[in-house]
Amino acid sequence: MLSKYNYNESLKRFEPKEKRCSYCFQNESENINNYDFIKLYKVKDRTNFVIYRSLKYEEMEIGISRCNSCVEFHEEASRKSPILKYAAYMLILIFVLPAFGLKVFIVGISLSVVLFLLLHKYAAKKNNPTERLTLKQGITSNVTIQDLVISGWIFDKPSA
Ligand SMILES: [Zn+2]
Repeated sequence: MLSKYNYNESLKRFEPKEKRCSYCFQNESENINNYDFIKLYKVKDRTNFVIYRSLKYEEMEIGISRCNSCVEFHEEASRKSPILKYAAYMLILIFVLPAFGLKVFIVGISLSVVLFLLLHKYAAKKNNPTERLTLKQGITSNVTIQDLVISGWIFDKPSA
Protein backbone atom coordinates (compact mmCIF):
# COMPACT_ATOMS: atom_id res chain seq x y z
CA MET A 1 0.00 0.00 0.00
CA LEU A 2 2.84 2.38 0.86
CA SER A 3 5.38 1.11 -1.66
CA LYS A 4 5.41 4.48 -3.42
CA TYR A 5 6.51 6.22 -0.24
CA ASN A 6 9.70 6.63 1.76
CA TYR A 7 9.41 6.68 5.53
CA ASN A 8 11.19 9.68 7.00
CA GLU A 9 12.44 8.49 10.42
CA SER A 10 13.23 11.89 11.91
CA LEU A 11 9.99 13.57 10.85
CA LYS A 12 7.95 10.37 11.25
CA ARG A 13 6.09 10.76 8.00
CA PHE A 14 5.62 9.04 4.65
CA GLU A 15 7.05 11.04 1.79
CA PRO A 16 6.04 10.23 -1.79
CA LYS A 17 8.81 9.05 -4.09
CA GLU A 18 6.97 10.61 -7.03
CA LYS A 19 8.18 14.15 -7.63
CA ARG A 20 5.58 15.08 -10.23
CA CYS A 21 2.91 17.30 -8.72
CA SER A 22 -0.29 15.41 -7.80
CA TYR A 23 -2.43 18.49 -8.39
CA CYS A 24 -1.48 19.82 -11.82
CA PHE A 25 0.31 16.70 -13.11
CA GLN A 26 2.75 18.97 -14.93
CA ASN A 27 5.40 20.50 -12.73
CA GLU A 28 8.02 18.71 -10.70
CA SER A 29 7.99 19.49 -7.00
CA GLU A 30 11.17 21.20 -5.90
CA ASN A 31 10.65 21.35 -2.16
CA ILE A 32 9.26 18.52 -0.06
CA ASN A 33 8.09 21.08 2.51
CA ASN A 34 5.56 22.29 -0.04
CA TYR A 35 3.91 18.88 -0.06
CA ASP A 36 0.52 18.60 1.52
CA PHE A 37 0.93 16.38 4.58
CA ILE A 38 -2.17 15.00 6.21
CA LYS A 39 -2.59 13.00 9.39
CA LEU A 40 -4.59 9.80 9.58
CA TYR A 41 -5.66 7.87 12.66
CA LYS A 42 -6.76 4.34 13.37
CA VAL A 43 -8.33 3.14 16.57
CA LYS A 44 -6.53 0.09 17.96
CA ASP A 45 -8.29 -0.51 21.23
CA ARG A 46 -11.17 1.21 22.94
CA THR A 47 -11.71 0.54 26.62
CA ASN A 48 -14.68 2.07 28.38
CA PHE A 49 -15.13 1.46 32.08
CA VAL A 50 -16.84 3.76 34.53
CA ILE A 51 -13.65 4.96 36.18
CA TYR A 52 -11.14 3.94 33.55
CA ARG A 53 -11.37 5.40 30.10
CA SER A 54 -8.70 4.92 27.54
CA LEU A 55 -8.25 4.96 23.83
CA LYS A 56 -5.34 3.60 21.91
CA TYR A 57 -4.85 4.70 18.38
CA GLU A 58 -2.24 4.71 15.68
CA GLU A 59 -1.27 7.91 13.95
CA MET A 60 0.44 8.41 10.61
CA GLU A 61 1.35 11.33 8.41
CA ILE A 62 1.37 10.99 4.64
CA GLY A 63 2.40 13.49 1.97
CA ILE A 64 0.96 14.39 -1.42
CA SER A 65 3.48 15.87 -3.88
CA ARG A 66 2.84 19.48 -4.77
CA CYS A 67 4.68 22.11 -6.81
CA ASN A 68 5.25 25.75 -5.86
CA SER A 69 2.62 26.95 -8.29
CA CYS A 70 -0.06 24.72 -6.77
CA VAL A 71 0.89 25.80 -3.24
CA GLU A 72 0.13 29.38 -4.26
CA PHE A 73 -3.09 28.27 -5.94
CA HIS A 74 -4.26 26.44 -2.80
CA GLU A 75 -3.33 29.27 -0.48
CA GLU A 76 -5.23 31.67 -2.69
CA ALA A 77 -8.25 29.33 -2.78
CA SER A 78 -8.32 28.88 0.98
CA ARG A 79 -8.20 32.62 1.45
CA LYS A 80 -11.14 33.09 -0.90
CA SER A 81 -13.41 30.35 0.34
CA PRO A 82 -13.44 28.15 3.43
CA ILE A 83 -13.27 24.60 2.12
CA LEU A 84 -15.80 22.18 3.60
CA LYS A 85 -14.01 20.21 6.24
CA TYR A 86 -15.57 16.86 5.48
CA ALA A 87 -15.89 17.09 1.71
CA ALA A 88 -12.94 14.79 1.08
CA TYR A 89 -14.07 12.27 3.66
CA MET A 90 -17.63 12.19 2.30
CA LEU A 91 -16.42 11.68 -1.25
CA ILE A 92 -14.37 8.67 -0.24
CA LEU A 93 -17.26 7.23 1.78
CA ILE A 94 -19.52 7.60 -1.23
CA PHE A 95 -17.08 5.55 -3.24
CA VAL A 96 -17.02 2.93 -0.50
CA LEU A 97 -20.83 2.70 -0.33
CA PRO A 98 -21.17 -0.04 -3.01
CA ALA A 99 -20.44 -2.51 -0.21
CA PHE A 100 -23.87 -1.68 1.19
CA GLY A 101 -26.02 -2.74 -1.75
CA LEU A 102 -27.22 -1.71 -5.19
CA LYS A 103 -29.61 1.14 -4.27
CA VAL A 104 -27.01 2.81 -2.09
CA PHE A 105 -24.47 2.19 -4.80
CA ILE A 106 -26.54 3.99 -7.46
CA VAL A 107 -27.30 6.90 -5.15
CA GLY A 108 -23.63 7.03 -4.18
CA ILE A 109 -22.43 7.08 -7.77
CA SER A 110 -24.94 9.77 -8.75
CA LEU A 111 -23.91 11.90 -5.78
CA SER A 112 -20.24 11.38 -6.61
CA VAL A 113 -20.77 12.48 -10.19
CA VAL A 114 -22.71 15.57 -9.09
CA LEU A 115 -20.09 16.40 -6.47
CA PHE A 116 -17.29 15.87 -8.95
CA LEU A 117 -18.96 18.11 -11.54
CA LEU A 118 -19.58 20.79 -8.92
CA LEU A 119 -16.00 20.66 -7.67
CA HIS A 120 -14.74 20.60 -11.22
CA LYS A 121 -16.85 23.58 -12.19
CA TYR A 122 -15.74 25.41 -9.09
CA ALA A 123 -12.09 24.67 -9.84
CA ALA A 124 -12.50 25.69 -13.46
CA LYS A 125 -14.00 29.04 -12.45
CA LYS A 126 -10.64 30.13 -11.10
CA ASN A 127 -8.74 32.03 -13.72
CA ASN A 128 -6.10 29.40 -14.17
CA PRO A 129 -4.78 28.41 -17.55
CA THR A 130 -4.05 24.80 -16.61
CA GLU A 131 -6.18 22.06 -15.13
CA ARG A 132 -5.48 21.82 -11.47
CA LEU A 133 -6.95 19.90 -8.55
CA THR A 134 -8.05 21.57 -5.34
CA LEU A 135 -6.49 20.45 -2.07
CA LYS A 136 -9.44 18.17 -1.33
CA GLN A 137 -9.56 16.72 -4.82
CA GLY A 138 -5.89 15.88 -4.50
CA ILE A 139 -6.56 14.01 -1.28
CA THR A 140 -9.60 12.13 -2.59
CA SER A 141 -7.92 11.13 -5.83
CA ASN A 142 -4.89 9.75 -4.01
CA VAL A 143 -5.15 5.98 -4.37
CA THR A 144 -3.02 5.26 -1.29
CA ILE A 145 -5.16 7.49 0.93
CA GLN A 146 -8.32 5.87 -0.48
CA ASP A 147 -6.91 2.46 0.42
CA LEU A 148 -6.02 3.65 3.92
CA VAL A 149 -9.53 5.03 4.53
CA ILE A 150 -11.09 1.82 3.27
CA SER A 151 -8.91 -0.14 5.70
CA GLY A 152 -10.15 1.94 8.63
CA TRP A 153 -7.98 5.03 8.83
CA ILE A 154 -9.81 8.28 9.63
CA PHE A 155 -8.99 12.00 9.27
CA ASP A 156 -10.05 13.08 12.75
CA LYS A 157 -8.17 12.29 15.92
CA PRO A 158 -10.28 9.78 17.88
CA SER A 159 -11.41 10.92 21.34
CA ALA A 160 -12.05 8.65 24.30
ZN1 LIG B 1 1.34 21.53 -9.38
